[in-house]
Amino acid sequence: MRPPVLYPLFASLTALKGVGPRMGALYKKLCGEFVVDLLWHLPNGIVDRTYMPQLRTAEPNRTATLRLRIVEHEPPSRRGLPYRIVAEDETDQITLTYFNAKGDYLTRTYAPGSEMLVSGQLEQYRSSWTMTHPDYAVPVDRASEIPKYEPVYPLTAGLSNRMLQKAVAQALTRVPDLPEWNDAALIAREGWPEWKPALLTAHAPLPPLTGKESHLRRLAYDELLADQLGLAIIRAHHKASSGRSFKGTSALTQALEKTLPFTLTGGQRQAIAEISADMAAPKRMLRLLQGDVGSGKTVVALMAMLQAAETGSQAALMAPTEILAKQHHATLSKLLAPAGIEIGLVVGKGRGGDRTKTLEALADGSLKLAVGTHALFQDDTAFQDLGLAVIDEQHRFGVNQRLMLSDKGRGVDILTMTATPIPRTLSLTAYGDMDVSRLMDKPAGRQKIETSLIDMVRLDEVIAGVKRQVSKGAQVYWVCPLIEESETVDLAAATERAELLKQFLGPGKAGLVHGRMKADEKDETMRRFADGELKVLIATTVIEVGVDVPNATVMVVEHAERFGLAQLHQLRGRVGRGAARSHCLLMYQAPLGETAKARLTMLRETDDGFAIAEEDLRLRGAGELLGVRQSGLREFRLADLARDKDLLDIAHDDACVI
Ligand code: ADP
Ligand code: MG
Repeated sequence: MRPPVLYPLFASLTALKGVGPRMGALYKKLCGEFVVDLLWHLPNGIVDRTYMPQLRTAEPNRTATLRLRIVEHEPPSRRGLPYRIVAEDETDQITLTYFNAKGDYLTRTYAPGSEMLVSGQLEQYRSSWTMTHPDYAVPVDRASEIPKYEPVYPLTAGLSNRMLQKAVAQALTRVPDLPEWNDAALIAREGWPEWKPALLTAHAPLPPLTGKESHLRRLAYDELLADQLGLAIIRAHHKASSGRSFKGTSALTQALEKTLPFTLTGGQRQAIAEISADMAAPKRMLRLLQGDVGSGKTVVALMAMLQAAETGSQAALMAPTEILAKQHHATLSKLLAPAGIEIGLVVGKGRGGDRTKTLEALADGSLKLAVGTHALFQDDTAFQDLGLAVIDEQHRFGVNQRLMLSDKGRGVDILTMTATPIPRTLSLTAYGDMDVSRLMDKPAGRQKIETSLIDMVRLDEVIAGVKRQVSKGAQVYWVCPLIEESETVDLAAATERAELLKQFLGPGKAGLVHGRMKADEKDETMRRFADGELKVLIATTVIEVGVDVPNATVMVVEHAERFGLAQLHQLRGRVGRGAARSHCLLMYQAPLGETAKARLTMLRETDDGFAIAEEDLRLRGAGELLGVRQSGLREFRLADLARDKDLLDIAHDDACVI
């Protein structure tokens, strides 16, 4: 389907000279495996070689281009010492230093007595000038070989800026001329260059770098447009299969409402009404239910599921993890019990006792409701007539999984729920045109969670405080972050912390859960915590979403500075669910940068999830807000949502034309 003119862009990077399989692997890690990935890996800085001082008045510690006469060579007197070349200008001497250099390269390059231009990092060592491994050294008549400005690329270990420059230069020769695809009026209004010149300019940046250059905005727009087009296609796919009207009888929803242990909030009522109207209408529902942690989304989803069941059709709720699926199952079973309605659980093979029975009941339609993981939508799960799919914490699922859902039934309505208060900008990129219901109010009686910032050096005090709280009957979450790059190290830290807390609290009071554990071990520990047997749950971020233990009133987060604001807000939302006063202790590693300080302070001062998310987007960019790495969301390479908000709206409108 790809037009042949684009083939050169989608060639493997290993097709470039100097990029073999080993380098290819490094590039893949850095930016991707195709030529186009490298082209989209834009420089984030400039080396300026226009500073051409005389040595006597030169400033050290900056890139300089010097006009030098080569005086003499000083080869190392023994192995391990550097090779030195002494040179001078009219004002002073300088030593050019090489480690592990091949002697003949240096004698060929630096002929004594010759006049040369040498460019590199100028340094001063005990009032003598030095330059180690100059970037360029050419005879004066070849001055044009030294670029005035050079791009600086983000790198990864094993790749140097020079290598990247060479690879990019080759990649740029493969860029085809393409006809302009954007609206001429838009291009003219914004004063944008065409695509190819924009790309060439982006890789040959000139100072000052403002980040607002029109060629960058143009490339950003192209990326946003491509993304919105992708979403538009998914939507078209979804809407193409005709919808069905699921007009309920209210028999089940009323039965549930009568037996609920609480009254619904105004926000819940309104969301339920909006969803109910969508379901009753003959078109397919594609609705997002947004509500801060603890706002009570689950019962809203349950009402929708019951409406589907009332029409004789089936409904399924998909959770992102097995723990959450099981917890939802337990919660929903409890809510449904008084009304005498059953709900099945579907998780991976060999994990739930009645799996076969449940699957049979879903297939023959005797079971109307199910909750589960993505196992719900795998091949061996069949529904007699699925009418509604609810997806919890949707941003963790990729676009493919969303499509698979639609294929499990005929005209399936889709309701997605997220606790991440996604700003409009992001919801456009994540969902395109979904209808949105928002739960702005929280159930009555919730108390504000007291949040404090604490330096890691006060760990002892925090542990003592936790011990005090536990002796008063409280339960505590203790979160140790897990960062991908050094998972083993982080895991070791979490394990060590668990040991320490166990020591302080005495046997049988603290438990650890982390991502590498087997699901049943994890479940067992979670269950013991939920039952109140364990007082402290040490966890990597697996508890981030969804778990509901009302007796837990203290949340400790280590290295809070490593988390996104929205993530911290979600973690904090794990406590403050019962009547007792709750605390959230954000422990940080000093010193904190300005931004980190601003972020944590903001969190201490507000518990408005939407405000927090907007701020997070402003301070950190979109990727980190949602924790892109673990989500199905694409992180933009060229667009910057804080800078390009306006372009996103235009791209969205343009994409909707198809
Ligand atoms: P979330 O939106 O984070 O998924 P849940 O649906 O898990 O929130 O609800 C959080 C808690 O609030 C649950 O214990 C739930 O039973 C309770 N809850 C939900 N709605 C109400 C309400 N209207 N009044 C009181 N408590 C409620
Ligand atoms: Mg929830």
